[in-house]
Amino acid sequence: DTALSISKLQKTYANGFEALKSIDLQVQTGDFFALLGPNGAGKSTTIGIISSLVNKSSGKVSVFGHDMDTELYEAKKCLGLVPQEFNFSQFETPLQIVVNQAGYYGIPRKPAMQRAQEVLTQLGLWDKRDQPSRNLSGGMKRRLMIARALMHKPKLLILDEPTAGVDIELRRSMWDFLTELNSQGTTIVLTTHYLEEAESLCRNIAIIDQGKIIENTSKKDLLSKL
Ligand code: ADP
Ligand code: ADP
Repeated sequence: DTALSISKLQKTYANGFEALKSIDLQVQTGDFFALLGPNGAGKSTTIGIISSLVNKSSGKVSVFGHDMDTELYEAKKCLGLVPQEFNFSQFETPLQIVVNQAGYYGIPRKPAMQRAQEVLTQLGLWDKRDQPSRNLSGGMKRRLMIARALMHKPKLLILDEPTAGVDIELRRSMWDFLTELNSQGTTIVLTTHYLEEAESLCRNIAIIDQGKIIENTSKKDLLSKL
């Protein structure tokens, strides 16, 4: 079963810059997959298109067989996204932020409150649930974005550079959390520019550079080539 399928995805920005040059990617259900590449390679553009924040120029993206052009709602139900930049209101509390998210998926209030307690506890934020989120540390804000993305129990979680600028301790605990989530059945795709991160966590790795996939292989095969 294919969790994420990207075919011939191409993006030219308004200024004429071609950020993605017809990329193809398949991620199987249950995988822990890294899209590895240097700054400027096209990772955020790819995630932006999957998040519907960036318009693609051409190509196709589907999530568990749901084409994002024709079955966007079905695709989004299966998909949790953790963007790189904090994009929640700094005035709202963690509890408000995750419960609002449940609203987008039509989850009724009572199960939403139960799920909120679950995800905020899992991510060590339950004690902070009623603090305005601007008071949270950078690491807590990052965990809050993960909690929010997990509210509707997506089968596929996509994270854009989840540990960029994060200290080593939080990075380790985030790695453990994601590994555990994957072992319980969630398919995970993350972007990173750290080889070490892809190597420690992921089973399959694609390397993107200048808008092209230049390698797409298992971690084992990749490491034997380096
Ligand atoms: P669209 O995706 O609909 O084509 P853009 O995202 O290109 O629209 O438009 C955003 C504006 O911001 C453009 O003028 C673009 O040139 C500029 N911009 C944003 N980020 C960058 C970047 N990293 N490099 C160059 N220009 C950028
Ligand atoms: P990465 O996430 O791998 O660092 P990005 O997808 O952010 O790469 O950027 C890929 C390329 O596209 C970069 O050269 C970047 O400057 C350019 N770019 C990103 N956004 C825009 C934009 N809105 N307009 C023009 N160019 C952009």
